[in-house]
Amino acid sequence: MITQEQKEYAIRFHGHFCPGLAIGLRAADWALEHLGRAQDEDIVVLTETDMCGVDAIQALVGCTFGKGNLIFHDYGKTAFSFYCRRSGRSARLVLNPSLSRKPDDERTRLQQKASAGELLPEEEKRLDELRRLQAEQMLSIPLEQLFLIGDVREPLPQRARIQGTLRCECCGEGVMESRIRFLDGKQVCIPCLEARKNQTGLEKEV
Ligand SMILES: [Zn+2]
Ligand SMILES: [Zn+2]
Repeated sequence: MITQEQKEYAIRFHGHFCPGLAIGLRAADWALEHLGRAQDEDIVVLTETDMCGVDAIQALVGCTFGKGNLIFHDYGKTAFSFYCRRSGRSARLVLNPSLSRKPDDERTRLQQKASAGELLPEEEKRLDELRRLQAEQMLSIPLEQLFLIGDVREPLPQRARIQGTLRCECCGEGVMESRIRFLDGKQVCIPCLEARKNQTGLEKEV
């Protein structure tokens, strides 16, 4: 089980306590119990969301963006696949769909008003209360009701590879080898390629 200290560390890392972070805490708890903490790059997580919950995993499991053992596939799903290189174990945890926030529920509506800066003081209090209640609910619900746990859907991602740096022949900035693209026989960076495509209406890379 996650300790109070670990929970507080994750909250400090993320900046606030919210239902999303609570979901991440539960996933982190599962990973720590079944796979352990990432020493180096031995534990890898593939996250299908970039919302609050990922921060609990970064803070507690030690899978971080910078180490390359946190991989993000932007599918908009609250789903985390964990892999352990040493033991070969893996599993995918996906939030039970019946717990997902509905587009028309009260918290979603209030949160939308909040981001538009239109929240009345009493609505602000209500939103705080809803967030706290839902976060507590996510912490207390049995794990097998919170997540559907199954096999991973994608193979273990490759180890982060150290690569050389080449220079973009357009802007002159250094670019990791694998991110170099070719345009009219020149090696260029992705933004330069995109800018050129927008200029010329070019559809394909050359
Ligand atoms: Zn949050
Ligand atoms: Zn460039």
